[in-house]
Amino acid sequence: MTSLAHLPPLRDVIARFDLGARKALGQHFLLDLNLTARVAAAAGDLAGVTVIEVGPGPGGLTRALVESDAKAVVAVERDSRFVAALADVVAAAAGRLTIVEGDALEVDMTAIAPAPRAIVANLPYNVGTPMLVGWLRQIQEFRSLTLMFQKEVVDRIVAKPRTKDYGRLAVMSQWLADARLVFDIPPQAFSPPPKVMSAVVHITPRILPADAPSFKDMERVVAAAFNQRRKMLRAGLKGLVAQPEPLLEAAGILPTSRAEEVDVAGFVRLAHAWRAHQDTQF
Ligand code: SAM
Repeated sequence: MTSLAHLPPLRDVIARFDLGARKALGQHFLLDLNLTARVAAAAGDLAGVTVIEVGPGPGGLTRALVESDAKAVVAVERDSRFVAALADVVAAAAGRLTIVEGDALEVDMTAIAPAPRAIVANLPYNVGTPMLVGWLRQIQEFRSLTLMFQKEVVDRIVAKPRTKDYGRLAVMSQWLADARLVFDIPPQAFSPPPKVMSAVVHITPRILPADAPSFKDMERVVAAAFNQRRKMLRAGLKGLVAQPEPLLEAAGILPTSRAEEVDVAGFVRLAHAWRAHQDTQF
């Protein structure tokens, strides 16, 4: 196992390379190496897995990942200042750590890391949700995603029907994956501290049946349904079809239901009904 105990403390790295946090890039650093080791451990068994880290920053979590059983670590960082600061970690990792300079929203993760691959990241909170949605689109490409977000986002990922947090993110995440809140992290664990609580979520892909709806169909139906979340479902679905009632009936959902009362299986039936309806239009 690689030990990086000889590397200088992260605070020294930050001072030496003048790595003041940039708010626009959502920079909140984890400097406590016990905590970064806990985040890496939340990813589970990484033996034989290539880990992609988004936003290594000064490298606290990167060090923990290099010290894990992962086969290799590929870290994607947008802020070029960190590339030089991570040179010591790259050297100590002896070929197991590669830094890719770029925007993780644009990078094809399957092109930079061979399967089996997993993502572990303390995400930049301003772009964390679009990143997650992009990875959900191709979730079968990943062994798991272990991600830190604002706790409010994690609550929306794991929310159950009939709760205020249940919405598009919960349905899409839980349709495609099992998502579990692992632990919360208070603001003072970061430098500089964010305004809100954070949390780690562990996401593993589900095996879907061969006739599962397409991502696009499911996304359209769910978006329309939650567009008017306080109204009856048939009102929201009017954005999709002129006559929602037959679709709801085919899906076995009461037309008077509200979107937040429909479970993931209900939305899958609705997406099937919408597809069948679309296919009869031509
Ligand atoms: N992993 C480090 C840690 O835990 O201390 C830093 C986490 S900080 C919350 C987010 C990191 O993501 C920063 O290093 C930031 O520069 C980087 N970042 C922001 N936007 C990015 C993007 N679009 N692509 C890749 N990295 C990005």
